[in-house]
Amino acid sequence: MGNLERVRAAMRAKGLSAMLLSEIGSVQWASGFTGTAGWVLLTPDDGVFVTDSRYTLQAREEVADLPVVTFGSPTDGATALGEQVARLGIQSLGFESDSVTVETWTKWKAKFGSVELVPSPEFVAPLRMVKTPAEIDKIRQACAAADACFEHVKRMIQPGVREYDIALDIEFFFRRQGMEVAFPVIAVSGAKSARPHGKPGEKVLERGDFVTLDFGAKVDGYCSDITRTVVVVEASDRHREIYSQVLKAETAAIEAMRPGARASDIDALARRVLDEKDLARYFGHGLGHGLGRLVHDAGRMNATSETILEVGQVWTVEPGVYIEGFGGVRIEDDVVVTENGVEVLTHAPKELLLLPIQECDRS
Ligand code: ZN
Ligand code: ZN
Repeated sequence: MGNLERVRAAMRAKGLSAMLLSEIGSVQWASGFTGTAGWVLLTPDDGVFVTDSRYTLQAREEVADLPVVTFGSPTDGATALGEQVARLGIQSLGFESDSVTVETWTKWKAKFGSVELVPSPEFVAPLRMVKTPAEIDKIRQACAAADACFEHVKRMIQPGVREYDIALDIEFFFRRQGMEVAFPVIAVSGAKSARPHGKPGEKVLERGDFVTLDFGAKVDGYCSDITRTVVVVEASDRHREIYSQVLKAETAAIEAMRPGARASDIDALARRVLDEKDLARYFGHGLGHGLGRLVHDAGRMNATSETILEVGQVWTVEPGVYIEGFGGVRIEDDVVVTENGVEVLTHAPKELLLLPIQECDRS
């Protein structure tokens, strides 16, 4: 079943006679469009893809299963959508209420006439979480590119190199091959590595720094997302203890993932492992997120998630420990849920690396 048909099946299940997709990840997933502005308007047997004139040619090429309508200045999106809502005779319209701003909703109310807007949160997310084999294949390619990038960038890890330059080198690696970066590269070192989403800056790497590299490629619209943490030249016992416990938590989580498992239980398991060394209190974010067209795609693996793992879901697994004034470790891999567990899609080495690798003394 194509993704548009999966949306229609969900509309039937929820008793909706029309649905408007506006969150760009949903729009891209349902339509095949890879631009960053567009809407999918669907009824049980009709529908339209709406975008602005910047994307006229691209949308015609990419959106195979819906007629494409574009608009340009001075018409705005709400007006263009309103015309299509009227043309399709829509009376009641589901919308992605968990991502629409009050501002947008107000404009729709003004332009859609008497149409009833039906809040439909979490509508596409559960559908989008289960990837098709073709989608998994693209994510697999993006993961392979990330692995190769880590291998390539290792040579940059030495005292005196700026975080900036490492981040740029990662970006160049992907861009040179015609790929995009899936998100702005994170390359942080020393005490700054305690910031889970720190920005690379002027700081140079120093002996004894943890260096956290978090990056991903985007291939054919699909993302990878990997994190590796290494140590510059020499590691203390504290470095080793924290690193090995994060790795143990990550490994335990990956081994416990299988169809039917609760995302919240996997998150709790990782925290229990960290707590063996009293480290769970330094782990503030969720264990993982869905991965697909968006780097933070549908699906969260955290304490409050109600998601049950299913075959075909693609997840990141990324426990971290962040100690203010000392530094942080995060290890992140991408996995796809299979019949009897998961397949790990990222393969960059995970043993604690001290870089640069020292030449053996042959004297
Ligand atoms: Zn990441
Ligand atoms: Zn991530």
